[in-house]
Order: sequence, then structure tokens, then C-alpha cells
Amino acid sequence: MKTAFHVRFNLAELFGGMRILLVEDDADLGEAIARKLRAENCAVDLVSDGIDAQHLGDTEQYDAAILDLGLPGKSGADVLAAWRRGARALPVLVLTAREAWADKVTAYKAGADDYLTKPFRIEELMMRLRAIVRRAAGHADPHMVCGPLVFESQTGQFELDGLPLKLTAFEYRVLSQLMMRRGAVVERLDLLERIYEGDADVDSNTLDVIVGRLRRKIGADLIETVRGRGYRLTARTSA
Ligand code: CA
Repeated sequence: MKTAFHVRFNLAELFGGMRILLVEDDADLGEAIARKLRAENCAVDLVSDGIDAQHLGDTEQYDAAILDLGLPGKSGADVLAAWRRGARALPVLVLTAREAWADKVTAYKAGADDYLTKPFRIEELMMRLRAIVRRAAGHADPHMVCGPLVFESQTGQFELDGLPLKLTAFEYRVLSQLMMRRGAVVERLDLLERIYEGDADVDSNTLDVIVGRLRRKIGADLIETVRGRGYRLTARTSA
């Protein structure tokens, strides 16, 4: 299978911070997408088999899945239908080599949020992924503000007091999770599950270290510690 990738600009400036389940049995394509997502600071679990995919989607926390339809083990449409029957609400972008209208109908009926036919431009994949993640988080407006902190979710850029904010991959993952759910408490376990890839050792202390570094960068009072639960991004008026 020949797949066209046209990378026209620096994807590192576009998007990141999410934990993505990537299901693709074309090894070259899967690796290429995973590389790009990781370059965007995303945590990526890449699997090539429908049965593994269903299990991970059922048991792990993801911000979105990119799901090929033609898979060994179990078809992408069957995997998706099983997730939806199990009330798994994660946004799903379906990929397929097939142009057939019937496949698109099958994917939507199974619960796809969006659909992309191969070959595709990776920029388009990223744009669609950003949009379904943002909408699933309940935001119609891609421009998110919390006090002096602004997040342009369509470009993935954070600004503090109007200046670009430089963050490490882990800092970016934590801050974008808090920003997407700003004003609400994000549980520690939820954060930990979304910032690490599947087989990584999860060290709870690391989260405190990352939050400490973020507070030094954006100001200590923007990230509130909610004892015994987690963290909340909030712009309280200075008291
Ligand atoms: Ca395939």
C-alpha cells in the first residue's frame, strides 16, 4: 500500500499534550503517525491488532483514538462498536484505505466522530484530531483563557501575558489537561494516566515535580492543589 505523507511545516508548533491510542496495522504508516504525535508532545500507544486495541480502549484513559478500519483480529468498526456499547466515550477518528461510501456509513454507525480516507496529509489528520478532542472536552471555542494564560487549542500554543510559553513535554501534557478542564478538579490518577505511555512506570511524585515547575513558570496561584484529589487550574482574583 502506498501512503502519501506531505509534511509542509513544523508540526512541533501545532499540537500536543494528549494521550492517544493509535491503531494501525500498516507498520510504516503507524510509526510515521506515532513519530509525529510524539514530536507534538503526545503520549502514544501504537497497536496493530483489533483485539489489543479494544482491550486498551476499554481499560486505559485516552484523549482520543485514531482507528484504522481494516485490522487483523477484529475490524476497526467492530472495535468501535464494542467501545460504544461499553459506553466508552473517547473521541475516535477513523482511518481507512477504502473509499467506499458503505465503509463510511459503517464507521459512523459504529460511533466514529470523524473519518479520514488514505492517503491523507498529516496536517489534516492533526487538524481533525485537535477538533474532535476539543469538542469532546466541551469547548466549541478553540481559544481558551485562564487569567494571564491563553491556550490556542488549534495551534497548540500556550501564551502567558501575551508571550509564548516554553514547556517540556510533560509540563505541556499536564497543563493542557488542566486547561481543557479549567475550573474543575482534575484527579491525580486521571492526570497520571494521561501523561504516560502505556508501558511507562508511573511515579506519582513526578507529577508533583512537574506541577512545581509549572507553578514557577506560570505563577504559583494559577494551579490550585485540591488535597487528596488533584489539581485545578483557576484564575482567582488576587486576595
Ligand atoms: Ca489496515
